[in-house]
Amino acid sequence: MNSLKYCLFITLLSGSASASLNIVTTTTDLRAIAAEVAGSLASVESIAKGTQDPHFIEAKPSFMVKASKADLIISNGLELEVGWLPSILSGSRNPKIKAGEKGNLEIGPAIDPLEVPTGKISRADGDVHPDGNPHFTLDPIRVGKAALLIGKKLGELDPPNAATYAKNADALNARLTEKTKAWMARIAKTGVKKVITYHKTLTYFLTRFSLETPAILEPKPGIPPTSGHIIEVIGLIKTQKIPLILVENYFDPTVTTKIKQEAPLVRTVTVPVAVDGAPGITKLDDLYETLVKSIEGK
Ligand SMILES: [Zn+2]
Repeated sequence: MNSLKYCLFITLLSGSASASLNIVTTTTDLRAIAAEVAGSLASVESIAKGTQDPHFIEAKPSFMVKASKADLIISNGLELEVGWLPSILSGSRNPKIKAGEKGNLEIGPAIDPLEVPTGKISRADGDVHPDGNPHFTLDPIRVGKAALLIGKKLGELDPPNAATYAKNADALNARLTEKTKAWMARIAKTGVKKVITYHKTLTYFLTRFSLETPAILEPKPGIPPTSGHIIEVIGLIKTQKIPLILVENYFDPTVTTKIKQEAPLVRTVTVPVAVDGAPGITKLDDLYETLVKSIEGK
């Protein structure tokens, strides 16, 4: 065998030994978790980009092609992807990843969702999710739990490597649990108690770190700010002395211009809210660190 052929032979061999599972995730946050749990044993790709509003992704044919080759699809659930994932799944014609099949893992319902509505919901309430707020990956503790669920699923699909997946998932969970204590101490030190956001994207983060959200810039979920609502928010900022507005970076930041004119003391920061949402945010740890720094004013 000449050296070139030998190289190809080795590449093929190692190609089949590593990256045996083909995983597609709906979001970059889930990709980051799955990639860390799988290590070199899987290839992991995300459908949405970290700079996109995950509620609104176009179900492109290229995503269906990706999904057609997947052994596993990992989704956020809680209706985050309700507008686009069903089309991608049916367009993929891949029976392995259909809802209810072994190759379909929906994380949200299993991680104790917040803001599950009680009573009847109508369209007049805006884009309310009947199963609760879907943005759980902004909570480091729930992400640790998500890693454990992903580890268990990968072990089911690839039993010979189950111990490796479990070990990687445990390490991720332990690391985020430990870091959360430090982030908590840093946030407590800032004295910030109340934060306004554009959409309820940061609810899990703010709840984890005992920060209140007295107002949201959207009058109702998915409804862009109206001037009447902004005037109410300005009133709240003044009476409750709210020090900070965080605007998720895929929304229009100019909405804060009027607020700043009326309430010049409030600090406004545009923040990434997903892995790959800004340069340098390659892991969820980086994302939380950026959010903690924006609360610290650094
Ligand atoms: Zn949302």
